[in-house]
Order: sequence, then structure tokens, then C-alpha cells
Amino acid sequence: MKMKDKIVVALGGNALGNSPEEQRALVKDTAKPIVDLIEAGHEVILAHGNGPQVGMINLAMSTAANTPAGTPEMPFPECGAMSQGYIGFHLQNAIREELLNRNMNIPVATVITQVIVDKNDSAFVNPTKPIGAFYSKEESDKMVSEKGYVMIEDSGRGYRRVVASPQPVDVAEKETVSALVEQGHVVITVGGGGIPVYREGNKLIGIPAVIDKDFASEKIAEILDADYLIILTAVEQVAINFGKPDEKWLSKMNLEDTEKYIAEGHFAPGSMLPKVQAALKFAKSKPGRKALITSLEKAKEGIEGSTGTLVVLD
Ligand code: ADP
Ligand code: MG
Repeated sequence: MKMKDKIVVALGGNALGNSPEEQRALVKDTAKPIVDLIEAGHEVILAHGNGPQVGMINLAMSTAANTPAGTPEMPFPECGAMSQGYIGFHLQNAIREELLNRNMNIPVATVITQVIVDKNDSAFVNPTKPIGAFYSKEESDKMVSEKGYVMIEDSGRGYRRVVASPQPVDVAEKETVSALVEQGHVVITVGGGGIPVYREGNKLIGIPAVIDKDFASEKIAEILDADYLIILTAVEQVAINFGKPDEKWLSKMNLEDTEKYIAEGHFAPGSMLPKVQAALKFAKSKPGRKALITSLEKAKEGIEGSTGTLVVLD
């Protein structure tokens, strides 16, 4: 590995917690491995998930809208924007402090990021991603007829709204992100996979959907011509036969292995599968690009090559 890499780091849900207090405490620990990478001379761009956070905001807004106070109904893309601000605030605050503690004077900022999707993405025909609160059958039927939502029964726990999970096509603020990165700033972008929008002439129109943060991180890594995509999650390595007696943790997967393991169903859809798919897509996108999947705690050792699962072409 050359001395200085451009690295997109994608943070999983375990880096953030479920309440403002938890999140503020957790991002202090999250900031350390991130600043380790910056201290080692790498250019770091941060992406993150937002599942629990956008769920919390959405639930709070829809609950408040049903009280006598009658706050306005908050559309889902707006809830996503709020989650980017809320998470970005804590991340930029904690990373700034960690940098200053190490006498590094590097600016940190969050860019509210819109990610463009294709309105004709087949994902919109079959929405799969449950969001927000649980409702009774009666409430659910009302939401279908009054708001046109798609509702599903979610594993015996009640009815829930489902939205599509389309693929990211482009990042609307890519020039801004790129300019900041070139100036040496640490940028937090595509939070929660980005706010999904579609193009209509000069307009970008918000659409209720959830873009997978692993795919959005891969997209911005390609756009920024990054060398490395690092996906930080709850496990130190990727396994085959995960959770079975013959479970095997992998330190490296090449193109052939990765495609074979995907086809054999070793990676759970919605959790490890999108990470492996995103890692492979990035490795395939240009010679020399590589991806690493490891845990937040092991980020430093991972990039030094002593742990994690490296995904490369050969
Ligand atoms: P994140 O919040 O970081 O996106 P997820 O929970 O979506 O994390 O995905 C990571 C989880 O995927 C791991 O904690 C692990 O339980 C699960 N997982 C599923 N299949 C595998 C596998 N083959 N190898 C390792 N972990 C796996
Ligand atoms: Mg996930």
C-alpha cells in the first residue's frame, strides 16, 4: 500500500446507538479509529447508516402530528435530512475534538447529501424496506386508502409501511464533497445512504425510499476515485457458513471466491450481503481498488493488514 490512500469509511449502526446520549458517547469511540487513519496520512471521507435514527425521527414526527398540537406531517425524505444533520452534528463534533486532542488542525464538516435514483428502478415496483412505527390493521388500511402507502404485516408485530430500496445512480453534491476533500477537509457525506431524489428537468424531487448505505458509500468512493472502501460493522471478518459448526472466517476474498460465496448464499440479505456486494463492485470498478470489511474496533489493524476481510480482484 502506498503511503497515502484516499479512503471512504462506511460506519454501521453499531457506531451510533439509539438515543442522543448513547450516540454522543459512542461517537467519541468512533472518532478514534477515524482519526488514527487521518493521523497516518490518509484522506478520509465518512459515510454512515441511519436506520434507528431515521426511524426515531419519523416516529416522533408522526406521533406529534396526531396530537392536538398538530405538528405538520413530515415526509420521509425530510426525516432523512434531519437524521443526516443529527448524526453529522455528533460525528463532526467528536472528530474535531479528537483531532484537536492530537494537535491536528483539520476542518470537519457534514454535507447534506442528495442521492439520485432512477424513478424506474425495479425496486419501486416491489418495496421491501420497513420504516417507522407499527400500526393496527385498521390504522394500516386507513393509511393505504388515505395516503397511498404500501403497508405489510411485519413478522407478527403489526403493520408497517414499506418503501423501496433503489440503487444509487449519482450524488448531487459530488463536486462540493470533492472540492472539500481536495482542500484536506474531513467530509461526512451520503448519511443513511443519502436523501433519495429523482430528476425531473432542473428539479430534484425527494422520494420516500431507503438507499442502502453500503451501496451509497461504494458510489461516492467511485466518484471520488478513492483507493479504498472500508466498511466498518459489528464483526471483525466475513465468514462462510456463518453461525454454523463449520464457520470459517476469511481474511481475503478474490473475485472468483466472492461471486461463488454470494451464489451459495453465505451472506444474509439486508446485512452482510450488501456489504460484500458493495465491496466487490468497488474492487471491480478500477484496477487497484480494494475494499475491506471489518469492525470499528479493528479498523486500524485492518488497514495495516492484520485482520478484516479484504475484497480484491485477485
Ligand atoms: P451494519 O449496521 O454495520 O450495516 P448489519 O447488522 O446490517 O450491520 O450487518 C452486519 C451483520 O451481518 C453482522 O453483525 C453479522 O451478524 C451478520 N452476518 C450475516 N452473514 C454474515 C457472514 N457471512 N459473515 C459475517 N457476518 C454476517
Ligand atoms: Mg446494515
